[in-house]
Amino acid sequence: MAGEPQDDCLFCKIAAGQIPATIVRETETTVAFRDISPQAPTHVLVIPRAHYENAAALAAGAPEVAADVLREAQAVADEDKAESYRVVFNTGAGAGQTVFHAHAHVLAGRGLHWPPG
Ligand code: AMP
Ligand code: ZN
Repeated sequence: MAGEPQDDCLFCKIAAGQIPATIVRETETTVAFRDISPQAPTHVLVIPRAHYENAAALAAGAPEVAADVLREAQAVADEDKAESYRVVFNTGAGAGQTVFHAHAHVLAGRGLHWPPG
């Protein structure tokens, strides 16, 4: 069922505390943790606790939680004292999505080129 934990999902396991992560913030609906392979001084992933395959599925299935993820992205940037930051939702393998549990990449702390690669 939409939103239910998936046995084979890395981020469901992180949300459940079954796999360790460097957690920076937690709310009732979200978890934010540092990316294991950071691409910027601040590189934090904000995930919903509920399992949705990508950001669009999250927005369709639990729009209030999608808003929570965006609010938490701002809170992560504030905690790292980043005035500017970028939020990325890779969607689909062709765009570089490797974990099919919705997550916002929050990137900050270095020059961020536009357009991105
Ligand atoms: P994406 O490629 O958009 O699906 O993003 C997945 C991200 O998860 C990548 O940036 C990985 O470096 C990151 N990642 C994979 N495993 C872990 C982990 N155990 N803890 C933290 N970040 C992870
Ligand atoms: Zn999941």
